[in-house]
Amino acid sequence: MRVQHWYSALSQGLLNYLSRGQLLVLSACVSLGLVLLGNSALSQPNPLETVIEAVGETAPTNAAVYHFKVGDFKAMVVSDGTLSFPPSFFVPKADPNAVTAVLTEHFLSTEEVFAHVNALYVETDEHSVLVDTGSGDAFGPTAGHLLENLAAAGVAATDIDTVILTHAHPDHIGGILDAEGQLRLPNAQFYISQTEAAFWTADTVELPKSLLDEETKAGLMATAKGNLMAIRDRTTLFTMGDEVIPHIQAIDSAGHTPGQASYLITSAEESLLATGDVFFSDPLNLENPDWEVAFDGDPAQGVIARRQLLEIVTAERRLLLVPHMPFPGLGHVRPQADAYGWEPIVWQFTV
Ligand SMILES: [Zn+2]
Repeated sequence: MRVQHWYSALSQGLLNYLSRGQLLVLSACVSLGLVLLGNSALSQPNPLETVIEAVGETAPTNAAVYHFKVGDFKAMVVSDGTLSFPPSFFVPKADPNAVTAVLTEHFLSTEEVFAHVNALYVETDEHSVLVDTGSGDAFGPTAGHLLENLAAAGVAATDIDTVILTHAHPDHIGGILDAEGQLRLPNAQFYISQTEAAFWTADTVELPKSLLDEETKAGLMATAKGNLMAIRDRTTLFTMGDEVIPHIQAIDSAGHTPGQASYLITSAEESLLATGDVFFSDPLNLENPDWEVAFDGDPAQGVIARRQLLEIVTAERRLLLVPHMPFPGLGHVRPQADAYGWEPIVWQFTV
């Protein structure tokens, strides 16, 4: 399996974002050249052949949607694909030996942390809702497949009337615009927290506590601002605790980003908490919630937010959808020693 590093893909995604006039295939060739040749794209002999091969490689063989219900509401988890990064990049301040030990104990790669990218589709009694938009072209070919997987499940992009954003990182808002800068979800009204929108669209955006390198930070900022500005005329801002639309309430999950929201969806005595990026990877973040995560804009606050959410959802025995847990990312958190463990739902074949 070929591996695309999250951070190099983001830099390339920024390049793509800044050059929307180019044909998609050309930018994809450049991305793939970087992936395959370790930043020596110019020596790639036949990039188009590589694109075709890579697209074939990344087309899902297994199900990329999971149907379920929240009370009376039909729902689907829809995969956008996968991202990966070295453990030392993900939790850079953690003891490498301890990280390797946890991964080994769980039969996981010690070289790469694989993160799924799961988005949620819900049909309420009034709206066809997408929570987050996937990566779009922000990363390489392993991600950005949300809308094609949604279409394969019978929901067209034009069917979506409501998009609720957890936060403005590229794997959550990168799907707003296509390579030409057009809206991929042309009939949608967008919702994001006032704090989140204000932070990323400010004249000056700074991430002084971030553990990321400057190039990656610049990519985050450009993608957030570009996408949020493009939808500002069709965006409704809310404050934490608000009912964003009927049956869906915003829950403060700041730390990863300043205005990140999770969403509590309630119908007929049932509920689901669609989290933002509060914890990422089972078992690293659950067994070691105090390990600071590079993707958290304020890693110390990220730890606090993670601890708070984990304590609450464990006590409430709350069903969660978690964006980067293994697909479909639905499950519960349970206490485990002085930390936490993950119990995925049992796959249901009929809904
Ligand atoms: Zn994310």
